[in-house]
Amino acid sequence: MTGPTLKATLSPSRIADFTSCPLKFRYRSIDRLPERPGMEALRGTVVHKVLEDLFDWPREQRTEEAAVADLARAFASVVEADPQARFAIDASLAWPDDAAPASPAAVSAFLDSLPAFIARYFLVERPDSFDASHREHYVRGRIDDDLWLNGYVDRIDIAPTGEVRIVDYKTGKRPTRGFEDKALFQLRCYALLWEQEHDMPVRRLLMLYLGDAERLVEDPRRGDLTRTADRVREVWQAMKRANDTATWQAKPSRLCDWCSFQQRCPAKSGFEPRFEPVPIEGV
Ligand code: SF4
Repeated sequence: MTGPTLKATLSPSRIADFTSCPLKFRYRSIDRLPERPGMEALRGTVVHKVLEDLFDWPREQRTEEAAVADLARAFASVVEADPQARFAIDASLAWPDDAAPASPAAVSAFLDSLPAFIARYFLVERPDSFDASHREHYVRGRIDDDLWLNGYVDRIDIAPTGEVRIVDYKTGKRPTRGFEDKALFQLRCYALLWEQEHDMPVRRLLMLYLGDAERLVEDPRRGDLTRTADRVREVWQAMKRANDTATWQAKPSRLCDWCSFQQRCPAKSGFEPRFEPVPIEGV
């Protein structure tokens, strides 16, 4: 299908988009409108790359100094793979047509912001004390007759005793007490998909926050994963209803400040979008 479609494969991040603002989900995942790359996301990509590759090294070489020294290489590989990254680094470039590279000052300021995240990683974990079993591991599974769920897990550790731990890194800060559920939803989705494919229950979910050197831990129970699958189905039904009625609600929140679609949003600019139902793809 070439036009806009509603994909019957969801991921935790697409679900988060829809639940935070259905209109944003519509523009991003159905219309696939282009967005200027953001600096926070790029920072996350480069730091994730370093932490992914760190586990290729012998244990004794997995030091903070070595990881910081690896940032420039990871940055170069990320920019080479996606030249649009320059727009995240240099706010003076006119997106999307400016052909100029990011200025050396902007690149240097960006690189200088990264070691603090690596330093905080080493405060919450000792990577020289274990080996990772999987990194950037793709998981996918059927949730319902007409619905799939997928995603990439930052890291999966399997202990010699067979215990499985699912790990995710965030460059932001740990949510305040009472708001952890939203953050854990992503990891519960991965646990659900892992357990569909493997006869190895997930013992622990671990979120490492590199914005403030905090950890969020959960030992999931069967009921947590069952409720997660129910929640995914519930969101899918809501998406299909929004599509059938062509009603994609704008839901203003503090996230609007980072939204690429403010000019196309009735809550922000008075713009009145008109939609038609789109076909569902991939059932
Ligand atoms: S500006 Fe806010 S309300 Fe409008 S689409 Fe973006 S997130 Fe939704």
